[in-house]
Amino acid sequence: MKKVAFYTLGCKLNFSETSTISRQFEEKGFQKVNFQENPDIFIINTCSVTENADKKCKKIVKEAKKISPNSYVAIIGCYAQLKPREISEIKGVDAVLGAAEKFRLIELLDDFAKEQEVKVLASEIKDATTYHTAYSINDRTRTFLKVQDGCNYGCAFCTIPLARGKSRSSSIESVISAAKEIASTEVKEVVLTGVNIGDFGIVEGKRQSRFEDLVKEIDQVQGIDRLRISSIEPNLLNNDIISFVATSNRFVPHFHVPLQSGSNTILRKMGRRYLRELYEDRVNRIKSLMPHACIGVDVIVGFPGETDEYFLETYNFLNDLDISYLHVFTYSERANTRATEMPDVVPMKKRSERSKMLRILSEKKRRKFYEENLGKTFTVLFEDDVQNGKIHGFTENYIRVAAKYDPMLVNELKQVTLDYINEDGNVEVLEPEFIYEKH
Ligand code: SF4
Repeated sequence: MKKVAFYTLGCKLNFSETSTISRQFEEKGFQKVNFQENPDIFIINTCSVTENADKKCKKIVKEAKKISPNSYVAIIGCYAQLKPREISEIKGVDAVLGAAEKFRLIELLDDFAKEQEVKVLASEIKDATTYHTAYSINDRTRTFLKVQDGCNYGCAFCTIPLARGKSRSSSIESVISAAKEIASTEVKEVVLTGVNIGDFGIVEGKRQSRFEDLVKEIDQVQGIDRLRISSIEPNLLNNDIISFVATSNRFVPHFHVPLQSGSNTILRKMGRRYLRELYEDRVNRIKSLMPHACIGVDVIVGFPGETDEYFLETYNFLNDLDISYLHVFTYSERANTRATEMPDVVPMKKRSERSKMLRILSEKKRRKFYEENLGKTFTVLFEDDVQNGKIHGFTENYIRVAAKYDPMLVNELKQVTLDYINEDGNVEVLEPEFIYEKH
């Protein structure tokens, strides 16, 4: 029985895909092992967004070869799609597979016999038209269910459409059948993920359904306690979705909505499909229906043309908005994107100063959000996350909660009252004693 190990870089989508590919291996009789357990085969799933993707990839290959010098090393993922030739030159790599090939890995690499030449199987991205549902089962608590891939938007800073291709998904029925499989396991929370999930519903080039249809159908699946929507574009987060989440027992009141800039001038330069007024409207709508909802925001600082004035517009806009935390990204140039051709490049020092300012703002927002919720009762899903005698979990509105460790709490939903904020910045609960009734 050949032993195979996996390593994943990048986003939740990559994790869900690695997990699905690893199940394919297990079904074919391979033994899945940890990286250090002398595998015969290493599969490395790469990311193009990660800083220094090339260096990271080289480092992992080098480690793999140190552990098992005669192993077969295959590289897949976004970076493999963007730079297949470059990767094939890394010492120790046996095969490079692109976006159209990665789910046929076992079939394409046959018996994983080493050859003189590196096998490069990366079609042009326009050929990546098929869709593969994927989900991760890494721990028992939470699963990332991929419902959509690719993107038809062309944001000026983004390489994802080049690495993952056009927007596509499978049918609602196929997602529901994956959700039912997950429901039969111990997993309690399913996070719907995709590159541009709000654009769900394009099957073989034609729109067949919309994301809101999926949301309503998946809400019916018995045996899943919690459903969470991962990052969704503000222009696609419509009233129908917000209203439905507000009334659903399974969808949690947590939204992650990329803003990227609070300046309309910069939003236009970025090629985003909304203006700040629409964003503000989405936030107000969510908060009017779900005052305790958590809203996370992605923001990029230092995009070309972002003057001090435009940055301050972003800062003040976010400061005034009723949001709960920020994910701050410092703009960095990516090959083959329109933004690299743009004038008025922001010096690195300014980029990092702005990033620091927004990170401090994020901490302020998070603390305020936590404080507003103290004394209220929520349901926490405790995870296998134990540090210094404390077990951690998240409420439905994404507040990180700590409680005294008790092994019985792992992967359990408990109703708790949020007591106080501890020195680590988590909300502490004293008595997580009420058992939550499963839906
Ligand atoms: S919406 Fe824009 S940022 Fe998001 S994946 Fe598509 S092109 Fe990239």
